[in-house]
Amino acid sequence: MSGDLPGVKLDEQLLGRQLYDCVADLYPICRSITGDGVRETLSHLKQIVPLTVSEVPSGTAAFDWVVPNEWNIRDAYVKNAQGERVIDFHDSSLHVLNYSRPIGETMSLAELRPHLFTLPDKPDWVPYRTSYYAENWGFCLSQNRLDALPEEEYEVCIDSSLGPGALTYGELLIPGESAEEVLISCHICHPSLANDNLSGVAVAAYAARYLQSRSTRYSYRFLFIPATIGSLVWLSRNESSVSRIRHGLVLACLGDSGPLTYKRSRRGNAMIDRVAAHILKQRDDCELFDFSPYGYDERQYCSPGFDLPVGRLSRTPHGRFPEYHTSADNLDFVKPVQLAGSLLACLEIFEALEQERVYLNQKPKGEPKLSKYGLYDSIGGGTDSPAFRMALLWVLNLSDGRHGLLDIAERSGLDFQEVALAADALCAKGLLKEM
Ligand code: ZN
Repeated sequence: MSGDLPGVKLDEQLLGRQLYDCVADLYPICRSITGDGVRETLSHLKQIVPLTVSEVPSGTAAFDWVVPNEWNIRDAYVKNAQGERVIDFHDSSLHVLNYSRPIGETMSLAELRPHLFTLPDKPDWVPYRTSYYAENWGFCLSQNRLDALPEEEYEVCIDSSLGPGALTYGELLIPGESAEEVLISCHICHPSLANDNLSGVAVAAYAARYLQSRSTRYSYRFLFIPATIGSLVWLSRNESSVSRIRHGLVLACLGDSGPLTYKRSRRGNAMIDRVAAHILKQRDDCELFDFSPYGYDERQYCSPGFDLPVGRLSRTPHGRFPEYHTSADNLDFVKPVQLAGSLLACLEIFEALEQERVYLNQKPKGEPKLSKYGLYDSIGGGTDSPAFRMALLWVLNLSDGRHGLLDIAERSGLDFQEVALAADALCAKGLLKEM
């Protein structure tokens, strides 16, 4: 697709590199739903956009949930009898069961085994496992590594802390002309996984940076939050103002090689659902899904007590790529060009939301004579494309006060941008007025 938005030339290659660099920069950090990894991640993101960081104390209630104790980790390893680290947290943050309580013991392989997690079907890969709400400890490793461990005594150390602290999240409100908001939400809780979490984080950060550089009709609120508990905490702290949210997108898994996919909001036919479907269908291939109460934080935004118009933009959905939640979701798995394409799709969706209007044809009796207004004089070699001329006719015909530009784009099969350009041209000639 082109890297152009109205009035702006975007360098798709440069964007791809910036997004990829952002993912690569954050990849080594050991994140979780709380702790210093989240803080460090947010401080990196502050170099891209000016986030406000909130700290919510452990024990704070969020509807039916409670902010858990804060988890931090400095080191974790399993050493063999020779004192060699056969599993080392410093090789990959995935090696420790996320939220492991501290431990320092010597034990046999048989005693250690119930605390080891592998993927027998993918013997080279390390799984990603968590135990946020049930206290446990453990290590994740490849099946091949486990198979190579002899029966002997092992020194097991997890130098972590799990105690009262806070849940940390980042937020940015970019004010527009209106207090009505577009919500963009992504997760910042996964450790060294590139597509799942970091691709969404990078796309959200650069979308925010782009929106900061222009004026908008809507206000845009970006949330960088840990999974589930983060959105519950945010919703519980902002319950009185969520009615301002007119449209929303959860961003997740946006860097793999798959086509773009969109999961509809619970409402199913919200403006964001229609706009996202329209923008994605203009691409070679895409897939649309209906809402289900499983997935990312759309589960919380679309819970019946909120029922917000929030869908989810992804490439290959979570759980549908084998690399999901494994060490194979690494920096080779995400592609700069895919990240850039995801960002541009996102910005096109926002652009369509910004431009959506209902207009009224000022000369509705018969067709206006377009050549009189300089809108039909380039036939036969001019700059106006046949699609633009069709868009003029469609906009004039359907602008009866009951159809918006999205209705016109859907019904005509024309690109939204083409329809919006035609509406601008007709307005400039006084043939169309905004309702
Ligand atoms: Zn995940």
